[in-house]
Amino acid sequence: MRIVIDPGHAGRNIDPGAVHAATGLQEADVALIISRQVARYLLNVGYAVKLTRTEWEQEETDDLSYRTVLANDWGADIFISLHCNSAANQSAEGYEVWTSPGNTLGDKLATCIYGQIAAEFPNRAGRTDYSDGDPDKESRFYVLVYTDAPACLVEMAFISNDEEAALLANAAWRDQYARAIARGVTDYTATLGG
Ligand SMILES: [Zn+2]
Repeated sequence: MRIVIDPGHAGRNIDPGAVHAATGLQEADVALIISRQVARYLLNVGYAVKLTRTEWEQEETDDLSYRTVLANDWGADIFISLHCNSAANQSAEGYEVWTSPGNTLGDKLATCIYGQIAAEFPNRAGRTDYSDGDPDKESRFYVLVYTDAPACLVEMAFISNDEEAALLANAAWRDQYARAIARGVTDYTATLGG
């Protein structure tokens, strides 16, 4: 199993992603930290893992095709993009898992990851769309459409929300989150084993 973890945004001065206004916490940094932890957990249980961005700031990753080509050339079996959400309304909160439109293996992957996040964080709000029978939301995000592997994108929490930004800044909480995502991956691969 080859797994690509995709830390959203190119980082720091190039593209920090969303930023928590009061503390300056940057989405790109949080995404990289949690991606590294997910990678470590998956490596520990024997998967091959690559990150599309390994540095705090990495210019070539600003071109999303760099990320999808890396995954496709490697022959990835799973692609997971990690982001933090943001909204003008600071009370917006919760997590979302996105897939490309249509029913694909990405939906199965997303459901496994969603389930583990929901189980790990029963007090956080899952933001879902059950219109197609599963909890993930669907959109033609570039990295979801142009990856050959089953893919999903996790909006882990709202960095624009003070309470969730504090969680995203908390090392223990980030580690919990990384373990939940890693368990979602192992759940998904177990469904393939048959
Ligand atoms: Zn983002």
